[in-house]
Amino acid sequence: MRYGVFSDVHSNLEALEACLQLFKKEKIQSFLCLGDIVGYGPNPNECVDKIAGLKKIQITGGNHDYAVAGLRDTDWFNDFAVRSINWTKRQIKNENKGFLMRLPRLVDASLFTLSHGSPRDPVDEYILTPRQFLDNLEFFRTPICFVGHTHVPSVFYTDALGIIQQKHLDDATTFEYDPQGKTIINVGSVGQPRDGDNRACCLIYDSDKHTVQTFRCPYDITSVQNKMRQNQLPLFLIERLEYGR
Ligand code: ZN
Repeated sequence: MRYGVFSDVHSNLEALEACLQLFKKEKIQSFLCLGDIVGYGPNPNECVDKIAGLKKIQITGGNHDYAVAGLRDTDWFNDFAVRSINWTKRQIKNENKGFLMRLPRLVDASLFTLSHGSPRDPVDEYILTPRQFLDNLEFFRTPICFVGHTHVPSVFYTDALGIIQQKHLDDATTFEYDPQGKTIINVGSVGQPRDGDNRACCLIYDSDKHTVQTFRCPYDITSVQNKMRQNQLPLFLIERLEYGR
């Protein structure tokens, strides 16, 4: 089965549409989403509506989703995030708030595991180091686990010599994982990439061929920035879309 995999849309409708367009072109009908549908960007309701409308999708909730849904306070967020979360709370329709509230923290399927942050700490942990990869191994049992949260597409795995590898997932590459081993894939971000490439990031996962293929999709950044300005969202969040940082 082939799945379109994406994360951290962050209310960026143009970027989401660019990825959905690519998935359509690739004839993808099943989807995996790692959360943070909302926060930062100008179109929270439109993004929830689009994602909720995908027929075959499995989703986990992210820290921004739960904050907007009122399930957690914003003490641990920076000022820019708090301002955008408060703005999003005022915009979000009740039914969409209910949708965000009901998102599971972890999806433990037969072939894969999904969580926003990490399998050990599904909502909050940023997996950034080989040590964290190692410490997370006992918290999932499938050959592959997809996470988001850092907004940087990357892969962690143990190679044939038993050495832990951590690599950036470059555009237009295919990574083949070991179905006997354990791999963690960070799928990067649709709506606010932070690896220096400002294009939307998404993946196609083939569970039969054991591959993950990376894609970067250009979208109309200026249009998103204009909407953010109209809604007086923080300048830093508006500018970073352009730099992909
Ligand atoms: Zn995020």
